[in-house]
Amino acid sequence: MARASEDVLARAEAAYLGLALGDALGATVEFMTPREIAHHFARAGGVHREITGGGWLHLKPGQVTDDTGMALALGDAILAHQGAISRQACAHAFDVWMRSKPVDIGNTVRRNLMLFRRTGIPVAPLSEHDAGNGAAMRVLPVALATLDWSEDEVRDACRMQAHVTHNNPLSDAACEFIVLALQDFIRGNSLREIYRHRIQPLVEAQPAFAFRGKPRRENPSGWIVETMQAVLQSLVEVGGFENCLVDVVNRGGDADTTGAITGMLAGAMYGRSALPARWLKALDPDVYLRCSEQARRLVATTP
Ligand code: MN
Ligand code: MN
Repeated sequence: MARASEDVLARAEAAYLGLALGDALGATVEFMTPREIAHHFARAGGVHREITGGGWLHLKPGQVTDDTGMALALGDAILAHQGAISRQACAHAFDVWMRSKPVDIGNTVRRNLMLFRRTGIPVAPLSEHDAGNGAAMRVLPVALATLDWSEDEVRDACRMQAHVTHNNPLSDAACEFIVLALQDFIRGNSLREIYRHRIQPLVEAQPAFAFRGKPRRENPSGWIVETMQAVLQSLVEVGGFENCLVDVVNRGGDADTTGAITGMLAGAMYGRSALPARWLKALDPDVYLRCSEQARRLVATTP
């Protein structure tokens, strides 16, 4: 994007740091139930709200997982190709990332990257079962690199990166929604506008994603539908970046990924100054730098 304004750059950076903060915060309670979280954090009022590491992956404080790791791999690949997005480059980048012995990796990601290694084909077979959240959690770099592309071109780019591992219509709907909503927030649109132009059309096109008037979605699984219900309930019904992230990760389940997706959207919505200083201080400094730098460079690409 030629000559992005400082506000656009700051919101892009906030989205990327929001992704990493949500991942780092949520990973501590991944696969726990809300009851287990309340019990475990009883001395903190029953709520998990600090970036402390731990969790089932035994993370260091501020360490992130595959959500941020795959996004950074994707962003590096887009930058290496001057902002162009191709299936082959995405697949290669994810394969290299898998060889780096990441701290965690989803089953669908692993299976379809192993298939890519054998066949060289960068598109997973169409599958109604591959409706996990693994393509949506890493989609942010596409939003930043395609800010001035047409909506059709943006949707194509979303599917190219997603289909390397997740070739599924529900995953596609979520990935395209996340990217287009991120771009609207980064351009300064309000939640009210995005509710009307992006969230309502998503639920109309894919009624499985309905979340309003439904019971609070707890223990969201890695299924993209449950992930998005938790993300959208927190984003729409809870005000403020920190409250929104605390709300979503305390639902438990796939908390690092609901945290990552909520973090990128809420970061873009509330902006750089809304990110809690103590969380930024706790984040792995190398991850902080890479997210911050990549966000600004991706917005500046013009393929
Ligand atoms: Mn993860
Ligand atoms: Mn996860």
